Amino acid sequence: MPKKALSKKHIEEIKNLLLENKAKIESTLQSISNEHDSLSNMDLNDEADFAAASRDYTNDTHIKNQQLKELSLINHALLKIENGTYTGLCEMCDSEITIKRLRVKPHAKYCIDCRNYIDKEKVSIA
Ligand SMILES: [Zn+2]
Repeated sequence: MPKKALSKKHIEEIKNLLLENKAKIESTLQSISNEHDSLSNMDLNDEADFAAASRDYTNDTHIKNQQLKELSLINHALLKIENGTYTGLCEMCDSEITIKRLRVKPHAKYCIDCRNYIDKEKVSIA
């Protein structure tokens, strides 16, 4: 079966989505780091305050790590679009990642089957 790479039009659409998501993530990361700056300038006398603040901090760190991971996948996809190697095909099995899936998750590197396999097997390649 011939591999069906994405059309130029679809690649353009994915590129715009990637750029949009990238801008969103960068602003989220920016606001998290601003919050942390103000947090470290705060006077946390109360133990409860401190507990609440550090709970937020842990939460933010978790979000931040996720966002950073997504950002690197977005940059990976954008780079491939830039140098013309982006196909929209799964990087593991070469099958088509549907445009429907890419619209939801434009930085997806794998088709849904491979994604499920990776999640199930806890293969650390994502
Ligand atoms: Zn696949």
